[in-house]
Amino acid sequence: METTYAWLWTLLAFSLTWMVFHLIKKKKAATKEAEAEAEERIDGAADVIIVGAGVAGAALAYALAKDGRRVQVIERDLKEPERFMGELMQPGGRLMLAQLGLEDCLEEIDAQEAKYLAIYKDGKHATLPFPNDNKFPYEPVGRTLRNGRLVQRLRKKAASLSNVHLEEGSVKSLIEERGVIKGVTYKNSTGEETTAFAPLTVVCDGCYSNLRRSLVDNNEEVLSYMVGYVTKNSRLEDPHSLHLILSKPLVCVIYQITSDEVRCVAEIPTDSIPSIANGEMSTFLKKTMAPQIPEIGNLREIFLKGIEEGLPEIKRTATKRMMVALSDTLILRNLLRPLPNLGNTKKVSEVVKSFYIIRKPMSATVNTLANVFSQVLIATTDEAREGMRQGCFNYLCNGDFRTNGIIALLGGMNPRPLTLVLHLVAITLTSMGHMLSPFPSPRRFWHSLRLFALALQMLGALLKDEGVKEMLIPTNAAAYRRTYMTTTK
Ligand SMILES: Cc1cc2nc3c(=O)[nH]c(=O)nc-3n(C[C@H](O)[C@H](O)[C@H](O)COP(=O)(O)OP(=O)(O)OC[C@H]3O[C@@H](n4cnc5c(N)ncnc54)[C@H](O)[C@@H]3O)c2cc1C
Repeated sequence: METTYAWLWTLLAFSLTWMVFHLIKKKKAATKEAEAEAEERIDGAADVIIVGAGVAGAALAYALAKDGRRVQVIERDLKEPERFMGELMQPGGRLMLAQLGLEDCLEEIDAQEAKYLAIYKDGKHATLPFPNDNKFPYEPVGRTLRNGRLVQRLRKKAASLSNVHLEEGSVKSLIEERGVIKGVTYKNSTGEETTAFAPLTVVCDGCYSNLRRSLVDNNEEVLSYMVGYVTKNSRLEDPHSLHLILSKPLVCVIYQITSDEVRCVAEIPTDSIPSIANGEMSTFLKKTMAPQIPEIGNLREIFLKGIEEGLPEIKRTATKRMMVALSDTLILRNLLRPLPNLGNTKKVSEVVKSFYIIRKPMSATVNTLANVFSQVLIATTDEAREGMRQGCFNYLCNGDFRTNGIIALLGGMNPRPLTLVLHLVAITLTSMGHMLSPFPSPRRFWHSLRLFALALQMLGALLKDEGVKEMLIPTNAAAYRRTYMTTTK
């Protein structure tokens, strides 16, 4: 009996010693890892390098620095950008700015309130407000603005944090070792070529990016261009609306960008751009487009005045909206937050994988709707396409839940891809109904079938680009709404 007890005690003592030994070993390993992380933080000049201080780069620098990261931002040109892009911040974008603690950057830049979409076609028009949807936790009002002023405010706010180092420099290439980006090579403000290293490099160099081409497939098709100019010393009679005119062959948009400047924009298909240099563009805008601008308020007068004042600019149509860039910033900040060490390649890779899934509801909804509209609203001589254009106008002008649904999607207030797909199907059916009325002749029947085929083709391409699962399964969108579309503190 005594021998048995002795054995049992020996076994117990052995087990306890083994457990204590392993616990100490585990703790030592954890301490070593923590020390390594701490060392890495001390050794490295920065935790993150951000290339480009536009809307995305400056906002990300601020958000990561607020979490205690040391951020080095390299921006090609620190002067206030003078550019024609990113002038409408939708309500969804304002919510994202507020979530990032950056909503004050929309103040003191003479931004204008954007409350309505006023849409015009063939003498008819409707004014559609951003809907007052209780599920959207922010004011349903956007802002129109000078993009350069917003960017400058964001840069200033980021640079005010002591752990942000914002410098002028042009990044030439990414430094890669065994498939991992280690840093960048850049030309600094004195023209000297130098390098910077950090555990994480984020490229935010905008839609004309050179660097992203080496990282992702960047062969986006350019569907159309925008021609635009500013009419100075002018105020629209209705300055809180974006005036969308479905004229032919171009779609025009007119909106107030500061208290006394109005932006006039027209979207041009890639194959028919009149030359700016020899004056063809001005003549075209004056002779073909101006007579179609409604004489409601002072819209036409302001459209014409701007043509006389200077040369228009041409830009590639946007493929990604500011609110998507800000939503991406917020998602990345939240995913990186729990990581003590950004040098942990495995964990950062997991973050990147999650990032591409979580961002889908906002990016797919907003960018796809913008792309579909820019294809559908451009006038053509094809009867089926024209039918779709008219159907889209009718659908938007209903003034009921259909209008509210589409405007909420446009405003980034309801980032649900499945809702978008359902609206696109409903627009197709409305357009077919319009084509067949008042009675379905064989010709009308044929064109409505072609319209259906066109819509299927468009929807198919959209699902292929964004992913069938991501577009049609609503759980991801529900999770996005729960986390990101919440009331701000
Ligand atoms: C014609 C047009 C109209 C648009 N209209 C709208 C709109 O109404 N509403 C909306 O929400 N969005 C609009 N957009 C899209 C919007 O402009 C972008 O979503 C937004 O600018 C993206 O921000 P970003 O920071 O990624 O890029 P950007 O704002 O372009 O910033 C990129 C920055 O990177 C810097 N940079 C580039 N390369 C380097 C380098 N090699 N080294 C260092 N720095 C570098 C650039 O100087 C720049 O400051 C429009 C876009 C276009 C083209």
